[in-house]
Amino acid sequence: KKIIIAIDGHSSTGKSTIAKQLAKELEYIYVDTGAMYRAVTYYAMNNGFISEEHFDREGLIAQLNEIQLSFVFNEDKGYGEIYLNGKNIEEAIRTLRVSNFVSAVAAVPEVRKMQVKQQLELGKNKGIVMDGRDIGTVVFPEAELKIFMTASADTRAKRRYDELKAKGEKAQFAEVLKNIQERDYVDSNREDSPLKQAEDAVLIDNSNMGEKEQFAVVKQMALD
Ligand code: C5P
Repeated sequence: KKIIIAIDGHSSTGKSTIAKQLAKELEYIYVDTGAMYRAVTYYAMNNGFISEEHFDREGLIAQLNEIQLSFVFNEDKGYGEIYLNGKNIEEAIRTLRVSNFVSAVAAVPEVRKMQVKQQLELGKNKGIVMDGRDIGTVVFPEAELKIFMTASADTRAKRRYDELKAKGEKAQFAEVLKNIQERDYVDSNREDSPLKQAEDAVLIDNSNMGEKEQFAVVKQMALD
Protein backbone atom coordinates (compact mmCIF):
# COMPACT_ATOMS: atom_id res chain seq x y z
CA LYS A 1 0.00 0.00 0.00
CA LYS A 2 1.38 3.38 -0.96
CA ILE A 3 1.54 5.99 1.77
CA ILE A 4 2.52 9.57 2.52
CA ILE A 5 5.84 9.98 4.32
CA ALA A 6 6.44 13.36 5.98
CA ILE A 7 10.01 14.25 6.89
CA ASP A 8 10.39 17.43 8.92
CA GLY A 9 13.16 18.88 11.01
CA HIS A 10 15.84 21.49 11.44
CA SER A 11 17.95 22.92 8.61
CA SER A 12 20.79 20.77 7.28
CA THR A 13 19.87 17.59 9.12
CA GLY A 14 20.03 15.53 5.94
CA LYS A 15 16.28 15.38 5.41
CA SER A 16 16.53 15.54 1.65
CA THR A 17 19.25 12.88 1.45
CA ILE A 18 17.10 10.39 3.35
CA ALA A 19 13.93 11.45 1.51
CA LYS A 20 15.52 10.99 -1.92
CA GLN A 21 16.94 7.56 -1.04
CA LEU A 22 13.59 6.49 0.34
CA ALA A 23 11.69 7.70 -2.72
CA LYS A 24 14.08 5.83 -4.99
CA GLU A 25 13.91 2.62 -2.96
CA LEU A 26 10.10 2.61 -2.69
CA GLU A 27 9.49 4.11 -6.14
CA TYR A 28 7.74 7.08 -4.60
CA ILE A 29 7.68 10.70 -5.69
CA TYR A 30 10.00 13.03 -3.78
CA VAL A 31 8.88 16.61 -3.09
CA ASP A 32 11.39 19.07 -1.62
CA THR A 33 9.23 21.81 -0.09
CA GLY A 34 12.30 23.75 1.06
CA ALA A 35 13.10 24.14 -2.65
CA MET A 36 9.68 25.74 -3.14
CA TYR A 37 10.33 28.37 -0.44
CA ARG A 38 13.82 28.89 -1.82
CA ALA A 39 12.35 29.38 -5.31
CA VAL A 40 10.02 32.15 -4.13
CA THR A 41 12.98 33.75 -2.34
CA TYR A 42 15.06 33.53 -5.50
CA TYR A 43 12.24 35.17 -7.43
CA ALA A 44 11.96 37.93 -4.81
CA MET A 45 15.72 38.58 -4.93
CA ASN A 46 15.77 38.78 -8.72
CA ASN A 47 12.74 41.02 -8.98
CA GLY A 48 13.80 43.74 -6.57
CA PHE A 49 11.68 42.72 -3.58
CA ILE A 50 14.65 41.81 -1.41
CA SER A 51 17.92 43.58 -0.74
CA GLU A 52 20.29 43.64 2.24
CA GLU A 53 18.38 46.61 3.62
CA HIS A 54 14.81 45.89 2.72
CA PHE A 55 12.17 43.24 2.17
CA ASP A 56 9.14 44.52 0.25
CA ARG A 57 6.58 41.99 1.50
CA GLU A 58 3.56 43.67 -0.03
CA GLY A 59 5.27 43.94 -3.40
CA LEU A 60 6.09 40.24 -3.36
CA ILE A 61 2.59 39.26 -2.20
CA ALA A 62 1.11 41.22 -5.11
CA GLN A 63 3.28 39.25 -7.57
CA LEU A 64 2.76 35.76 -6.14
CA ASN A 65 0.43 34.74 -8.94
CA GLU A 66 3.28 35.36 -11.40
CA ILE A 67 5.23 32.53 -9.81
CA GLN A 68 4.79 29.09 -11.37
CA LEU A 69 6.69 26.27 -9.73
CA SER A 70 7.01 22.74 -11.03
CA PHE A 71 9.12 19.64 -10.49
CA VAL A 72 10.51 17.94 -13.57
CA PHE A 73 11.90 14.42 -13.15
CA ASN A 74 15.59 14.12 -13.92
CA GLU A 75 16.42 10.55 -14.98
CA ASP A 76 20.10 10.80 -14.05
CA LYS A 77 19.47 12.22 -10.62
CA GLY A 78 16.42 10.10 -9.91
CA TYR A 79 14.27 12.91 -8.56
CA GLY A 80 12.36 15.96 -9.71
CA GLU A 81 14.24 19.23 -10.12
CA ILE A 82 12.52 22.51 -9.40
CA TYR A 83 11.59 24.93 -12.19
CA LEU A 84 10.52 28.54 -11.77
CA ASN A 85 8.45 29.84 -14.67
CA GLY A 86 9.96 27.21 -16.95
CA LYS A 87 13.59 27.64 -15.87
CA ASN A 88 15.58 25.03 -13.96
CA ILE A 89 16.75 26.66 -10.72
CA GLU A 90 17.65 23.51 -8.76
CA GLU A 91 21.27 24.66 -8.31
CA ALA A 92 20.69 28.41 -8.19
CA ILE A 93 18.57 28.22 -5.03
CA ARG A 94 21.25 26.45 -2.96
CA THR A 95 23.43 29.47 -2.28
CA LEU A 96 24.10 30.93 1.16
CA ARG A 97 22.54 34.16 -0.08
CA VAL A 98 19.20 32.45 -0.71
CA SER A 99 19.56 30.64 2.64
CA ASN A 100 20.03 33.98 4.38
CA PHE A 101 16.69 35.34 3.15
CA VAL A 102 14.51 32.26 2.86
CA SER A 103 13.18 32.09 6.42
CA ALA A 104 11.87 35.67 6.23
CA VAL A 105 10.05 34.85 2.99
CA ALA A 106 8.73 31.57 4.43
CA ALA A 107 7.27 33.49 7.38
CA VAL A 108 4.88 35.40 5.10
CA PRO A 109 1.44 33.75 5.52
CA GLU A 110 0.40 34.42 1.89
CA VAL A 111 3.54 32.66 0.67
CA ARG A 112 2.80 29.64 2.87
CA LYS A 113 -0.82 29.46 1.75
CA MET A 114 0.19 29.31 -1.88
CA GLN A 115 2.85 26.66 -1.24
CA VAL A 116 0.66 24.44 0.92
CA LYS A 117 -2.04 24.49 -1.76
CA GLN A 118 0.42 23.18 -4.35
CA GLN A 119 1.84 20.64 -1.88
CA LEU A 120 -1.65 19.23 -1.24
CA GLU A 121 -2.13 18.95 -4.97
CA LEU A 122 1.18 17.07 -5.36
CA GLY A 123 0.23 14.73 -2.50
CA LYS A 124 -2.99 13.63 -4.13
CA ASN A 125 -1.17 10.71 -5.68
CA LYS A 126 0.02 8.65 -2.76
CA GLY A 127 3.42 7.15 -2.78
CA ILE A 128 5.04 10.40 -1.81
CA VAL A 129 7.95 11.47 0.36
CA MET A 130 7.75 15.15 1.24
CA ASP A 131 10.34 16.97 3.31
CA GLY A 132 10.10 20.35 4.98
CA ARG A 133 9.20 21.98 8.29
CA ASP A 134 5.41 21.65 8.58
CA ILE A 135 4.56 18.60 6.51
CA GLY A 136 3.53 16.34 9.40
CA THR A 137 1.86 19.14 11.35
CA VAL A 138 0.08 21.25 8.70
CA VAL A 139 0.29 19.91 5.16
CA PHE A 140 -0.37 16.20 5.81
CA PRO A 141 -1.35 15.76 9.46
CA GLU A 142 -2.77 12.39 8.39
CA ALA A 143 0.52 11.14 6.89
CA GLU A 144 1.04 7.48 7.69
CA LEU A 145 4.72 7.94 8.60
CA LYS A 146 6.24 11.06 10.14
CA ILE A 147 9.92 11.54 10.84
CA PHE A 148 11.42 14.51 12.66
CA MET A 149 15.14 15.00 12.14
CA THR A 150 17.51 17.01 14.24
CA ALA A 151 21.20 17.27 15.18
CA SER A 152 23.35 19.76 17.04
CA ALA A 153 23.78 23.12 15.30
CA ASP A 154 27.54 22.55 15.14
CA THR A 155 27.20 19.20 13.38
CA ARG A 156 24.77 20.67 10.88
CA ALA A 157 26.90 23.73 10.19
CA LYS A 158 29.93 21.55 9.60
CA ARG A 159 28.04 19.46 7.02
CA ARG A 160 26.62 22.52 5.30
CA TYR A 161 30.02 24.22 5.25
CA ASP A 162 31.65 21.17 3.66
CA GLU A 163 28.90 21.06 1.02
CA LEU A 164 29.29 24.73 0.11
CA LYS A 165 33.10 24.34 -0.06
CA ALA A 166 32.76 21.29 -2.30
CA LYS A 167 30.67 23.40 -4.68
CA GLY A 168 33.34 26.08 -4.63
CA GLU A 169 31.25 28.65 -2.79
CA LYS A 170 33.13 31.09 -0.61
CA ALA A 171 31.85 30.67 2.92
CA GLN A 172 33.05 31.14 6.46
CA PHE A 173 32.17 28.46 8.99
CA ALA A 174 30.94 31.15 11.44
CA GLU A 175 28.61 32.57 8.79
CA VAL A 176 27.15 29.14 8.00
CA LEU A 177 26.61 28.42 11.69
CA LYS A 178 24.94 31.80 12.18
CA ASN A 179 22.61 31.14 9.22
CA ILE A 180 21.60 27.77 10.65
CA GLN A 181 20.93 29.24 14.10
CA GLU A 182 18.95 32.13 12.66
CA ARG A 183 16.84 29.86 10.49
CA ASP A 184 16.15 27.56 13.46
CA TYR A 185 14.99 30.59 15.40
CA VAL A 186 12.80 32.18 12.72
CA ASP A 187 11.36 28.81 11.58
CA SER A 188 10.49 27.81 15.15
CA ASN A 189 9.03 31.16 16.22
CA ARG A 190 7.00 32.38 13.26
CA GLU A 191 3.29 32.75 13.86
CA ASP A 192 2.12 30.73 10.90
CA SER A 193 2.99 26.99 10.96
CA PRO A 194 6.08 27.13 13.16
CA LEU A 195 8.58 24.29 12.92
CA LYS A 196 7.79 21.72 15.59
CA GLN A 197 7.76 17.99 15.98
CA ALA A 198 4.34 16.42 15.39
CA GLU A 199 3.18 14.39 18.38
CA ASP A 200 3.16 11.21 16.35
CA ALA A 201 6.49 11.80 14.59
CA VAL A 202 9.51 9.59 15.20
CA LEU A 203 12.52 11.62 16.33
CA ILE A 204 15.88 10.97 14.73
CA ASP A 205 18.86 12.82 16.17
CA ASN A 206 21.70 12.16 13.77
CA SER A 207 24.47 14.10 15.52
CA ASN A 208 26.24 10.76 15.92
CA MET A 209 24.57 8.63 13.29
CA GLY A 210 25.77 7.75 9.81
CA GLU A 211 23.71 7.96 6.64
CA LYS A 212 23.47 4.19 6.15
CA GLU A 213 22.26 3.58 9.68
CA GLN A 214 19.61 6.28 9.40
CA PHE A 215 18.40 5.02 6.07
CA ALA A 216 18.05 1.48 7.40
CA VAL A 217 15.97 2.71 10.35
CA VAL A 218 13.68 4.88 8.25
CA LYS A 219 13.24 2.29 5.50
CA GLN A 220 12.19 -0.32 8.03
CA MET A 221 9.56 2.04 9.40
CA ALA A 222 8.25 2.75 5.92
CA LEU A 223 7.90 -0.97 5.21
CA ASP A 224 6.23 -1.84 8.53
O1 C5P B 1 14.74 22.55 3.62
P1 C5P B 1 15.51 23.82 3.33
O2 C5P B 1 16.58 24.09 4.32
O3 C5P B 1 15.95 23.94 1.92
O4 C5P B 1 14.38 24.97 3.53
C1 C5P B 1 14.71 26.32 3.40
C2 C5P B 1 13.82 27.17 4.28
O5 C5P B 1 12.48 27.14 3.79
C3 C5P B 1 13.70 26.78 5.75
O6 C5P B 1 14.73 27.32 6.55
C4 C5P B 1 12.34 27.35 6.12
O7 C5P B 1 12.47 28.73 6.44
C5 C5P B 1 11.54 27.26 4.84
N1 C5P B 1 10.64 26.10 4.81
C6 C5P B 1 9.41 26.22 5.44
N2 C5P B 1 8.50 25.21 5.35
C7 C5P B 1 8.77 24.09 4.66
C8 C5P B 1 10.03 23.94 4.03
C9 C5P B 1 10.95 24.96 4.14
O8 C5P B 1 9.15 27.23 6.07
N3 C5P B 1 7.85 23.15 4.57
